[in-house]
Amino acid sequence: MTNLNQLKFRNSFSQLPEAFYTRQSANPLTNPRLVCISQPAADLIELDTSCTSLNQLCEITSGNDTCPSFAPLAMVYSGHQFGAYNPQLGDGRGLLLGEVQTTHQGKWDLYLKGSGTTPYSRFGDGRAVLRSCIREFLCSEAMHHLGIPTTRALCVTTSDTPVYRETEEKGSTLLRLARTHIRFGHFEYFYYTRQHDLLKALADYTIGQYFPQLVNDSDKYLLLFQEVISKTALMVAHWQAAGFAHGVMNTDNMSILGETFDYGPFGFQDDFDWNYICNHSDYYGRYAFSQQPDISYWNCGRLAQALLPLIADTESLQTIIDQYPQLYSGHYTELMTRKLGLTLVEDEDPELIKSLLQLLQDEHCDYTLFFRALCAFSPDAPLPDYLQTLQQPPLLRWLNTYTERLKRNLMDNRTRSQVMKQVNPKFILRNYLAQQTIEQAEQGNYKPIEELLSVLESPYGEHPEYEHFAAAPPDWGKKLEISCSS
Ligand code: AMP
Ligand code: MG
Ligand code: MG
Repeated sequence: MTNLNQLKFRNSFSQLPEAFYTRQSANPLTNPRLVCISQPAADLIELDTSCTSLNQLCEITSGNDTCPSFAPLAMVYSGHQFGAYNPQLGDGRGLLLGEVQTTHQGKWDLYLKGSGTTPYSRFGDGRAVLRSCIREFLCSEAMHHLGIPTTRALCVTTSDTPVYRETEEKGSTLLRLARTHIRFGHFEYFYYTRQHDLLKALADYTIGQYFPQLVNDSDKYLLLFQEVISKTALMVAHWQAAGFAHGVMNTDNMSILGETFDYGPFGFQDDFDWNYICNHSDYYGRYAFSQQPDISYWNCGRLAQALLPLIADTESLQTIIDQYPQLYSGHYTELMTRKLGLTLVEDEDPELIKSLLQLLQDEHCDYTLFFRALCAFSPDAPLPDYLQTLQQPPLLRWLNTYTERLKRNLMDNRTRSQVMKQVNPKFILRNYLAQQTIEQAEQGNYKPIEELLSVLESPYGEHPEYEHFAAAPPDWGKKLEISCSS
């Protein structure tokens, strides 16, 4: 374990041509203090979290200090936002500080979000506020521990620097760890600006760094695309199975490695609702929960378009993209049958899943509580508590079908129950829980973040002292609207 100064860096992105970024450092925040840190994330980069090391971390994440081995830069990219192409985006409030080369965990990007204006800030102030940093911090760690591909969060730092949103808030930063910060939008930028030599350089860099097995393949760009859409389909299948809505699936928020990326107005399902829209500014529901698979497909189409100059065999490209819906449903059905404790997927299972979701929707059932209760269901025992609270006839009809299906399952009920508890979390980051910890943190009390994080780090386990974190939201916490302002 070492402090930041002693970590080994391999800043490969900064060796790409200058057209990919603008070099600059963070603008300092006043009177910084560390709000929270994730120990598992610190372990990933082999970072020492003793007191002196944390003081240094606080100075660095607030832009008051730097490391000689950093090569801080703001990346340029573009992307489709809500369906429309925006030719000029880029890191408007964050910097890639450098890439840590670890001994055992590969390479990690260190990215500071909220670090001040850059040439890509447009009308923004380059800052992030405490509530949005805490939300990304908690959610990225929660997603990881749910087994969902995601960027990670090392720590949040806040300050006395005022930042103006609907009200005055505190300028804060999040230190993100990710395998990459390359987005679909990076490829779109070089495609739409007709810089095809740089597009090729970007694709070669991506392959060299993340898909080295493809380097010498004559179809490497086609295979790169195949890899990206496979990972994307798996990621979105995980979202749907966990009841997670991302909220801003613009192509600039799609990681080339299929990791959940850029946590803004995300939300988890409470009472199951296909049409759940977590983003208050998404007036037409483009990014509603039910739309996520289709939108990810559409986004992959935008990436395919951007890769056209590199791929002569457009027929094969079309064939690959046409496979996306099937690829996605395969993953989704697999994950959902696992949630139901089924060992093998049968032809009728998608129907069983569909009818269950319809039931959950009609009965305003809490998605997470339902599946967790179902773990304890046994055809010859009384119904688990939560299932007893539901309207009986439709539920009993579905449970009858499920019971019939279980007769062909290769596990006894006891084993099924144990296995189901490994994939049906008891604890998720419900919006109201995030909200409560944020309100405390804004008063200077950071303890609740630590407590909630400790539970989210083992969401499938039991935490008797924190049973209340498993509860469905109280009335005030049911339809919290999360704005895009962050
Ligand atoms: P997002 O909606 O978070 O994906 O952000 C879209 C674009 O807006 C990206 O280029 C961000 O860097 C930029 N952006 C978001 N918030 C700010 C801000 N407060 N200041 C400057 N740029 C921002
Ligand atoms: Mg973004
Ligand atoms: Mg964002």
